[in-house]
Amino acid sequence: MNNTMLGDLLFPNLEHTTEYYESKYPLRRIDQEAKVCRLGPSPTGFIHLGNLYGALVDERLSHQSGGSFYLRIEDTDDKRKVDGAIDKIIDGLAFFDIRFDEGVNKEGELGDYGPYTQSERVHIYHAFAKKLVNEGKAYPCFLTEDEISKIRAEQENNKKTPGIYGDYAKSRFLSFDEIKSKIEAGEEYVLRLKSCVLPPDAYEDSSQVIKVRVNDGIRGSLEMPANFQDVVLLKKNGIPTYHFAHVIDDHLMRTTHVVRGAEWLSTLPIHVELFNTLGFDLPVYCHTAQLMKLDENGNKRKLSKREDPELSLNFYREEGYHPLAVKEYLLTILNSDFEEWRADHLELSCDEFPFKLEKMSNSGALFDLNKLKDISKDVLFRLNAEALFDFLKRWSEEFRPDLDFMFTDKDYLLQILDLGRNDAKPRKDFISASQMVEFISYFFDKLFRIEDEMSIEVKGYEKQILTMYLDTYNHDDSQEQWFEKIREIAGQLGYALKPKDYKKNPDQYKGHVGHVSSVIRIALVGRSTSPDVWAIQQIMGEQQAKARFQKYCQEL
Ligand code: GLU
Repeated sequence: MNNTMLGDLLFPNLEHTTEYYESKYPLRRIDQEAKVCRLGPSPTGFIHLGNLYGALVDERLSHQSGGSFYLRIEDTDDKRKVDGAIDKIIDGLAFFDIRFDEGVNKEGELGDYGPYTQSERVHIYHAFAKKLVNEGKAYPCFLTEDEISKIRAEQENNKKTPGIYGDYAKSRFLSFDEIKSKIEAGEEYVLRLKSCVLPPDAYEDSSQVIKVRVNDGIRGSLEMPANFQDVVLLKKNGIPTYHFAHVIDDHLMRTTHVVRGAEWLSTLPIHVELFNTLGFDLPVYCHTAQLMKLDENGNKRKLSKREDPELSLNFYREEGYHPLAVKEYLLTILNSDFEEWRADHLELSCDEFPFKLEKMSNSGALFDLNKLKDISKDVLFRLNAEALFDFLKRWSEEFRPDLDFMFTDKDYLLQILDLGRNDAKPRKDFISASQMVEFISYFFDKLFRIEDEMSIEVKGYEKQILTMYLDTYNHDDSQEQWFEKIREIAGQLGYALKPKDYKKNPDQYKGHVGHVSSVIRIALVGRSTSPDVWAIQQIMGEQQAKARFQKYCQEL
């Protein structure tokens, strides 16, 4: 068969050859060490933690090495397309500080290696497909679904490896004229790779089975049986499969590191064969671990879209996790030495951390919301009050516009946010915007409510305690003077001045000074635990504090 004639028959009107594209997209002029990475999401509109996890690896590898990070939209599967999805992807990642140097952006695209949307690259895929046909390495396959099912059934019966390969790939043996007349008769076809590898069952000894060896950037040396299937390169509509598009794109866009999920490991031999068949250098594959969580029974399982709301990036935005907290958390799962580095370099940005592929785990990466919360506490603690204010305001504008009143007196909110954070034993209890709002809500009359009950030791004495407290209230008292007054009230009413005295002789006292001060605390903030009461009063101001005590007495 004359392959060139077949190439012309299948691809009659191509404007350019592969040489044209090779020179249009030359090797990048970057340092040897610089890495070029890409994110290739499908525009489904759902962007999840796994995407962010992978994107962070790409982002770190490329930006840390002075390379480039680009966004490629992999939209060859029409069924998965959702309107507005691309903006969602870009915004969703930008929120977590993942920014691209080139590729698709909201205005169009940027960079010399485009188009960066696969559906706009069909002419390029066709040029390479034609080259393969011309070289006898690809062929049109006219098998119908029915015929394929029959082949499969026959293979099952004969205990043969299923698939389209070797003699089963019937269209391999068609003559040019047969192909031509089928095409003229309007028969549909896909383009398949003509694999020259034999299936494993063709060998008597399994050690003879041809293997591919790949040095994975994360997993190290991998050895897998080579592909022997005539995989589909172009679908009936001429659109490439993921396999073909990935290989052409990552070659022409001069990607150095392909970071993608472990679900692609099983098809790696196909990609290796395609790279080799096309004469391209293999990029460094980096197959990341699956995100796992521990279920109620302590078993590891994959995070699932249906069961785990924390898989969606929106979850973190809505809850008001600080993007930096999520980023630092992901870094702790990505590189086991991040935490130690962080503890030694509190003042540095996490972007200064020397991220290393080799430090990545290749078994499941365990995701733990409680750990994220701990890290959030540290991250929010390192932000100053002004930054916390901005963060809270932005979150509230998006998710809780009803809280706008919190932001009218900036000075007041700044003091609230800073409360106890500069003490010898500083407080670290902010976790997320939604939790912060809840935490500081008592500072605002609109949100204030009594949540906790008075303890049994003060039942019936609340009014007396509060009246005595109000009678001696002096807003200018120092913290020591303030506490001295509470001790006096406690003594006068028959409460022990020290908790341990009460413990020793419970019959001699009504309770202890802590019970007395908790009356004041609950009347002031509505809760039995809170930061220092004196400090809260100082921030609230005399009028508001007194009004709370008076109101409590009135409502008794
Ligand atoms: N489009 C593929 C996906 O959404 C990307 C895989 C890859 O990064 O190569 O899963």
